[in-house]
Amino acid sequence: MTVQTQPFTVGDFQCIAINDGDLKMGPTSIFFAGASPHELDSALKQYNLASDGLNLACSCLYINTGKEQILIDCGSGADSGHEQLGKLFAALEQADISTENITHVLLSHGHWDHVGGCSDNAGNLRFSNARFAMVQGEYDFWMNETPDSDSDTLHMTQIRLKAINPHLDFIDINEEILSGVRAIETPGHTMHHISFEISSNGETLICIMDLMDHPLQVEYPQWGAEWDIDHQKSIESREAILKLATEKDALIHGFHFPFPGLGRISQKDDKNVWVALVESEN
Ligand SMILES: [Zn+2]
Repeated sequence: MTVQTQPFTVGDFQCIAINDGDLKMGPTSIFFAGASPHELDSALKQYNLASDGLNLACSCLYINTGKEQILIDCGSGADSGHEQLGKLFAALEQADISTENITHVLLSHGHWDHVGGCSDNAGNLRFSNARFAMVQGEYDFWMNETPDSDSDTLHMTQIRLKAINPHLDFIDINEEILSGVRAIETPGHTMHHISFEISSNGETLICIMDLMDHPLQVEYPQWGAEWDIDHQKSIESREAILKLATEKDALIHGFHFPFPGLGRISQKDDKNVWVALVESEN
């Protein structure tokens, strides 16, 4: 199994972006609801993007602060039914990181491609020594069955959330979760979706998670995925995080951006544009 990993640093923190696998979805227009066919067509042409679909990476982050070994989201797990996903565990092994040494697993939201790795389908917990953390509103949303959720993925998420429950801390948006790690409220994709800000020794990383699926949204924050629960809120969240990242001159990591999903925002003709730190191999 080939795994894609990208080591990098944020101040004194040693980090690794790990691709849990690629998810091909299409047509491309489903990621950019809000764009007129003409606008989308010219943007796709400008950036040489296909119209029949995009290949989304699912990249989890491993962060070693020197005190803690943190994972931000844990991918789909081994039994999501998608063979090309769940590579996180092979990547950790390859990097000589034992799942038993992970001290914290921070979860951005309850979608299966982010929480699936917490346990198997029987509810056996992975990361046996870790504390798990997520926002209570997100936890409650998934545990209270909702009529418009796809039942298979809802079931998969509920098994994971039940498994982590005895080891779960709820995240307070205004507090540091760990030294140098805080959550940023970025609702819209789900109503309690959060992003993370990681700070060490004067450097900042902002993990935007599923606030954007593709770098094109840096330039067009008004375009959002068809399945964002609240489109207007997700637009406001994107605009706010772009402002924050610019003010802080932060490195950005996009969970679904072309791997490794690391880059910065730059200004061109009064617009924000994405500048990848490492060019994707995809
Ligand atoms: Zn996702």
